[in-house]
This record gives sequence, structure tokens and C-alpha cells, in this order.
Amino acid sequence: MKPHQSTFFDGGKRLQMTESIELAIQSLQAYGPDHPHWGIAWSGGKDSSATLTMVIWLIDSGRIKAPKTLTVFYADTRQELPPLAIAAQQIMDELRERGIQVEVVTAPMDKRFMVYILGRGVPPPNNNTLRWCTRQIKIDPMEQALRERLDQLDGQILMITGVRQGESAIRDRRIEMSCSKDGAECGQGWYQQVLPNAKGLRGRLATLAPLLHFRVCHVWEWLKHWAPQEEFGDWSTAMIADAYGGDEAEEINARTGCTGCPLAAEDTALNTILLNPQWTYLQPLTGIKPLWRELREPQHRIKKAGLERLKDGSIAKNPQRMGPITLEARLMGLERVLGIQAACNTAALAQGRPQISLINPDEEARIRALIAAGTWPDGWEGDEPAADTVMPIVYQNGAVQPLLFSAEEAS
Ligand code: SF4
Repeated sequence: MKPHQSTFFDGGKRLQMTESIELAIQSLQAYGPDHPHWGIAWSGGKDSSATLTMVIWLIDSGRIKAPKTLTVFYADTRQELPPLAIAAQQIMDELRERGIQVEVVTAPMDKRFMVYILGRGVPPPNNNTLRWCTRQIKIDPMEQALRERLDQLDGQILMITGVRQGESAIRDRRIEMSCSKDGAECGQGWYQQVLPNAKGLRGRLATLAPLLHFRVCHVWEWLKHWAPQEEFGDWSTAMIADAYGGDEAEEINARTGCTGCPLAAEDTALNTILLNPQWTYLQPLTGIKPLWRELREPQHRIKKAGLERLKDGSIAKNPQRMGPITLEARLMGLERVLGIQAACNTAALAQGRPQISLINPDEEARIRALIAAGTWPDGWEGDEPAADTVMPIVYQNGAVQPLLFSAEEAS
């Protein structure tokens, strides 16, 4: 391998790129031969793209032994940042040209992020509520795809993931679920920890994170400077690094996840993309994150009127809790997202740039049908009061604090 120097790698104490790759080879050599079938969980983000392209290069160049079968599972959440979605399409072409089986894994229609929120009315996730999105749009569909693949195979699958913990991984061998740490990629920790224990997969799935020890600078170095070279596989990975800030990607250290992720403090990745003149036409996408915030506001939701008895007979902990999004607000949200999509695509056409798909025609039709049918999430009927209705406060013990002034008194 040609020595590859970079200003990233000064300081002596840091692992060098070649040493990092050598460790990846060792982990694949140690665990790979025990498993005839390999799968690679790939989201199009930086860590899993680096893992995918490196593993294939290591196989192609004879540095590790090829498994009997290799399946790449591309987790298409329909929420990917457009430059990443485009890069993923190109990499998929490159994989298929090599004869590698690629499966595109997408959540069923009613579970997709846009359809679940705008059609069914479930509020967008935030940091204080149950985070339903990662499981629903990434983990569950991957579980299902793996079950189907396992039905076609004998024995176990070794699932290779892009989990990365940096140098600390070598010391403490911890895998964190958090996707906010060190610009980590949303979902990868879940693939590593949750999937092997999933129903129907227990005992049939082992996981391996060969880039666990990679520092984030190694990932960028690979994607931007190494993988695009013919000797390392000639991969279309530079676009991924460019989307995240090119040579400044390490400093920016944007988290990899959905466009307008409601859980990220800032849309750092999108903002970085918009600094690139090629992608400024995607500026309207900055309207998505505020929309999710707005749809969580009381004026767009309904609430329980008082004490709520749960299915098991117990009383819910939070009387008068806020619930789903009203039908009107869902329509407003749908029109807003379609407007953002149309604005991007009008500019794309004018500039000869790629168009984007936030909500495709099938998804739009499904959202409209769910709204028209008055669909509400489980436990809600739709006749509950608007969440901004002023009402006497009900406590969990049943005590009621009346309003100081009733509506009649006030008028
Ligand atoms: S990136 Fe954000 S919105 Fe997307 S699955 Fe992860 S937490 Fe949910």
C-alpha cells in the first residue's frame, strides 16, 4: 500500500491510516471466516459508506477472503440529504457492476417518516419524547430484510456495521447508542446492539464493526482521498465528504442523519451543503426543521380532557397530555413540504441540477387518504379538545384546579 501522508495525521500518538486499515483487516480476518454469509448495513452516511467501500476493496484486492455470499442492505429512509442520496445511487451502480447483491430497504408506506407524521398525525419526535423514528424507519425495516434474507440462507449472517468509536474504542470496547457523539451516524449503534437480539434473528446474526477504532479524520481521509483512487476501488465517495465540508469536514463534524432531523440541535450538515454553490438551490430545505418544531405546538394538536384510563386499567401519568396533530395542521404541513420540494425542483430544472424527492406521488396520495379518512393514532378518537384550549388543571390523583376566571365571567 502506498504511504499516504496528510496533515490530519501529525502528532505521533495518533494511529496512522495504514495502521487503522490494518486493524480493520485483523478484525475481519478474526471473525469473518466463521461466517459464510456477510451483510453490510449501509445508510449512505459517512461511517457506513467508508466501511462498505473499504470492505469491498479489501476483498477485491485479496487482503481478506471473500465470504460465500455478500449482501449490501441500503437503508433508504426517504429522509436522506440529497447529495448523500445521489452518491448512494452511484455507489449502488458501482456495487452492482461488481456483481454485488444490493437490497434497498425502506419502511412500509404507513411507517415512513412523512406518512406517519402528516398522514397518521403522530407528532415529530423530539429529545424529550420517545424517539420512534430510528427504530421505525431504520431498524425495523432492516430487521425484516434480514429475516427474509436469512430464510434464503443456511447458517448465520455476519452483519457488518459502520459503528465507529474512535481511539477510545480500543481502550474501553464500548459501543454507544448515541448518534450525537463525535459526529456519529444515526442508527449504527442500534444496528450493532439491537438487531442481533431481534425476534427471529437471535442466534442467527452476529455483528462486526471493523472501523470501530477509526477516528473521524480517518473516515474523511478514506472517503475523500483514498477510496476515489483506482487502486482503492474508484468509489464515488468524494461527494459524501464534500457534502460534509470537504477538507473541513472533520472540524465541522456534522452528524449524519435525516434532512431536518428534529433531534439534532442544528442542521449542520444541511447548512454545510448549502455553502457549496452547486447545492444552494436546496436552500428551501431549511424550512423542514422549523415545520417539525411548529407541528409540536399546542395550536396544531389535540389533548386529553382529563384523567385517562389506560388499557391495563391504570391511570395515565400525565393527565391532559398533548397528543396527535390535527387534520388541518397535517394538511398545512403536507402543503408546506410539497412547496419546499417544488421550490427546490424548479431551481434544479433551471440550473440543470438533480431534482429531489421529499414526498413522492404514492406517499402524497397515501397521506391525503389517511387525512380524508380521519385517521388517528392508537388511543385517540379525534374528538378530544384542541391542545390550546384553556381548561381546569387535572392532577394524576384526580384533584382539579378550577380556572380562576371562566369564559362567561371573562366576557
Ligand atoms: S436522523 Fe433524526 S429523524 Fe432521522 S432517524 Fe435519526 S433521529 Fe430520527
